[in-house]
Amino acid sequence: MDYILASNNKKKLAEMQRILAPLGINVVTANMLGKTLTDVVEDGKTFEENARKKAYHACKEMNMPAIADDSGLCVDYLDGAPGIYSARFSGEHGNDEANNDLLLEKLSGVPMEKRTAYYVCAISCVFPDGREISVRGECHGHIGFERDGNEGFGYDPLFIIDGRAFGRYTAEEKDKISHRGNALRLLKKELENII
Ligand code: IMP
Repeated sequence: MDYILASNNKKKLAEMQRILAPLGINVVTANMLGKTLTDVVEDGKTFEENARKKAYHACKEMNMPAIADDSGLCVDYLDGAPGIYSARFSGEHGNDEANNDLLLEKLSGVPMEKRTAYYVCAISCVFPDGREISVRGECHGHIGFERDGNEGFGYDPLFIIDGRAFGRYTAEEKDKISHRGNALRLLKKELENII
């Protein structure tokens, strides 16, 4: 059965397809169906609210099961910032370089033991008959003092786990422990129970 992904991000699509295919779920994007989803205002106060909002919207517009995620980085020393504002921490949406520069600036002089941080990924799955599933995955580490590695995206060159930045992990290595991988594995379990 086809499920619509409320995103056109190719990496997310591939990861979801890989994990959910064994359940007979074929994840597609609106583009793949020759359609376009209208924009959603992501004004939720939590990752969960934003994911749910996007999934409801896609489910309603397409009249098919819909999956949406919302993710970001929470830094303990910054009281959880940038959190749901991770993509636009520096002001410009999706400017990874500027976001990483700002994060380093805000943690300037902060010792390693106080640089704890975690990634969060909330995934929501909504069905036309009203059923819904909501899961959350986390991944805990530290923010480094400088960029390390070219793999991944976003804050990965600064996010250190097990002595190595995510910028040095292959996609497969990252999937095994990442917030998104953890959330997707939980989603798979929950879907197994209801479909
Ligand atoms: P989105 O939920 O895909 O829109 O991600 C929001 C933002 O959180 C991204 O633009 C990144 O800045 C950050 N982010 C989320 N997941 C990751 C990750 O796995 N690595 C690095 N940055 C991430």
